[in-house]
Amino acid sequence: MNRPDTPADRPDFLSLLADRLRDGGGPSFEVFSPADGRRVAAVPDATPADARRAADAAVQAYARWSRTGAHQRARLLQAWFGEIMAHREEIARVISAEMGKPVSEARGEVDYAAAYIELYAEEAKRIRGEAFSGPDARKRLYATPRPVGPVYAITPWNFPAAMITRKAAPALAAGCTAIVKPAPQSPLTALFLSWLWERAGGPAGTLQTLPTLDAAGVSQVMFDDPRIRKLTFTGSTEVGRSLYRQAAGTLKRVSLELGGHAPFLVFDDADLDDAVEQVMLSKFRNAGQTCVCTNRIYVQRAILPAFVAALARRVEALRMGDPADERTEVGPLVDARGLDKVAGQVRDALDKGATLVTGGRAAEGLFFRPTVLAGVAPGMRILEEETFGPVAPILAFDTEEEAVAQANDTPFGLAAYLYTRDLARAHRVSEALEYGIVGVNDGAPSTAWAPFGGVKDSGLGREGGHWGLEEYLDLKYVSVGLP
Ligand code: NAD
Repeated sequence: MNRPDTPADRPDFLSLLADRLRDGGGPSFEVFSPADGRRVAAVPDATPADARRAADAAVQAYARWSRTGAHQRARLLQAWFGEIMAHREEIARVISAEMGKPVSEARGEVDYAAAYIELYAEEAKRIRGEAFSGPDARKRLYATPRPVGPVYAITPWNFPAAMITRKAAPALAAGCTAIVKPAPQSPLTALFLSWLWERAGGPAGTLQTLPTLDAAGVSQVMFDDPRIRKLTFTGSTEVGRSLYRQAAGTLKRVSLELGGHAPFLVFDDADLDDAVEQVMLSKFRNAGQTCVCTNRIYVQRAILPAFVAALARRVEALRMGDPADERTEVGPLVDARGLDKVAGQVRDALDKGATLVTGGRAAEGLFFRPTVLAGVAPGMRILEEETFGPVAPILAFDTEEEAVAQANDTPFGLAAYLYTRDLARAHRVSEALEYGIVGVNDGAPSTAWAPFGGVKDSGLGREGGHWGLEEYLDLKYVSVGLP
């Protein structure tokens, strides 16, 4: 793809970026704003032939990049971080335009995405091996980390910037090259980020972006190619499971960040106001389209009426509207499929006896009113399927054991939350929760410095911190005999 030299402050930046990236007028597809259906831009639609070219380029670039010194890789990552922060506002507007995240939140995503790059610019310099002794005194033994090789990354639309940097930054830091296949709903953010990598001096072929409507065809090329050594995927459990099988053909290393179904337990000794605030953050951020979003709220019976009333007050005050408006707190859902799923779950819960506290219906277009449901009970779809929408279902519990058992009664295991002032309970419950991430009196535990990932149907591997870098490193053991 050609390198665009478009200034990002031009009002028509988006279409210029997309047009310039289009390889000699090849096939393209259009991106529409979920807020009002307007066409945002057309982007190149990569074919399996493009994928083969990208794989060749990634392999070729790997030969040099894997031998580039760690400090040089770190400097380039630092420069990429600088480019992203310099274009923070434009990236936030692109995110908001293509997938409907309120712009004030989108700025936060850019900061979060950039934090992974800053972190891995530092971690690149700390990759270290180990010399050790064996039983034979005439041998010198050491283990040294090596990059796993060219990486194929598939990313979702809900965090179009952060889900890419969380993979590309540790891959590049480790000495791997990466090919990113972004979600078709949010290819512009992906193209923007790879363009900024080039501006920062990133060598050709080290980070390539392949937007496509043919995810299966493009991915098949990567699965069949034994030179692509790793698959890293963030998306739904259903797709992740099938990609895991496909990656087995060429025995790729695999990391999978899949769906979640986060429980939020509120014990009767909790700071109620704070618990409500953190539920708001965890549930309604990104219109509820977050894999670590609270999906089920369990409240101890004594405080149930007070909790429901306080949450309803806060939810009714949420400002839903144009994601480009600074005051908007809840934007649209990403597409009609997402909207139908949320509306269907709410209908199913109401049909089966749940009580509508507030909201409960679709608004105009792809907007769904922030909703609170009480009296939710087992057997309702909302307790089984990931919601990915602004709906807060509330259940009551009596004892700690019951709350933990209900919280664990799911195939998912990504994030869980609990609110209590009892220190012993905080430890007891967080140990008993079968989840990769637990927020104790904290509805937003994610940070680039911490390990992010799940157990059970929520996936394999961790992103973030030094753990995220290890996913891109293999260990080579060398034994040197001293004859
Ligand atoms: P999705 O699985 O449908 O799509 C994710 C990505 O996979 C997209 O790029 C899509 O084009 C691609 N894809 C789909 N089918 C494919 C195929 N057959 N071959 C190759 N690629 C294919 O998920 P979605 O609905 O776009 O995203 C939301 C999901 O992502 C939710 O389930 C959410 O929980 C999950 N998610 C997880 C995390 C995490 O870190 N655990 C973070 C964000 C989102």
